Amino acid sequence: MAFGFPTIKRRLFAVTCKRCRRDVPSGRDEFPFQSVAVECPLCGELRRYLPSEVFLGRPDQLVLHQQRHGGRYQTLMLPLLKIAGGGKVHTKRDAVNELAAQFGVSEAGRKELLPSGKQEVFDTEVS
Ligand SMILES: [Zn+2]
Repeated sequence: MAFGFPTIKRRLFAVTCKRCRRDVPSGRDEFPFQSVAVECPLCGELRRYLPSEVFLGRPDQLVLHQQRHGGRYQTLMLPLLKIAGGGKVHTKRDAVNELAAQFGVSEAGRKELLPSGKQEVFDTEVS
C-alpha cells in the first residue's frame, strides 16, 4: 500500500551544528534512535548528535546552497566562519575585505573584476 505524504518528504531529520549553529541534515531518512555522526557541510564540524538533538525540519538555506554548489562555496565559507568566530565584530564589508586579503585578491584586482560581474558574485556569496 502506498500512502503519499508529499509535504513530509520536504522535511528531514536535521541537527543544529554545534559550531556554526546552522541546521544541517542528519543524512538519516528515519528518526535515529542512537547517536549519529553528522558532518556539517558548512564548517566541516564532525560530531555525534544524540537522538534528543535531532529534529524534523528544514536545513538552513546556506547549508542547502553549500550542498548544491559544493567546494567553491565552502572555500569562501570556511575562512568567513573563522573570521566570524574570531570574536571581533565585523561588518559584511570587513569580512569581504578580509576574505579578499586571504585569497590574495588585491584592491586593484577586485576593481578589475567589477565589469565582469564577478565582484558582485564575490560579495553576494558572503552576504
Ligand atoms: Zn557547522
